[in-house]
Amino acid sequence: MDELRELYQSLILDHSRHPHNFKVLDSANRTADGYNPLCGDQITLYMNVENDVIKDISFQGQGCAISKASTSIMTTILKGKTIAEAQSIFNKFQHMIKTGEYDIDQMGKLAVLAGIHKYPVRVKCAILPWHTAINSLKSEDKAKIFSTE
Ligand code: ZN
Repeated sequence: MDELRELYQSLILDHSRHPHNFKVLDSANRTADGYNPLCGDQITLYMNVENDVIKDISFQGQGCAISKASTSIMTTILKGKTIAEAQSIFNKFQHMIKTGEYDIDQMGKLAVLAGIHKYPVRVKCAILPWHTAINSLKSEDKAKIFSTE
């Protein structure tokens, strides 16, 4: 179990040091800023959404390793998903991050973040990108600022 924990930690560090989709998306037709005042995490999400499908997604910003890794992993998962699928994954992710319970078949690589439920302050760091993405996708406004508070 300790070995597994180390693997998970190294995956989080890897994503935070070398985040995926860390760039401005020129084709973005929707942007959203997310801010976690407790930790100071700040992200900008860029999404290209067509016919309810997230065709492309990227991000910029600064924050702790957890928020950066969570955003990086989220972008790799949401690319190509419909808004309804994204909402469904978010609901399961939110349950996992708050309780530590998850189904590995459903969570896949998101499971590396399951251990965070033990650190309530960090839950906001991990959930920030999801909160920002889902609220933006549901919003009429194409550019908006969201906070975890
Ligand atoms: Zn943070």
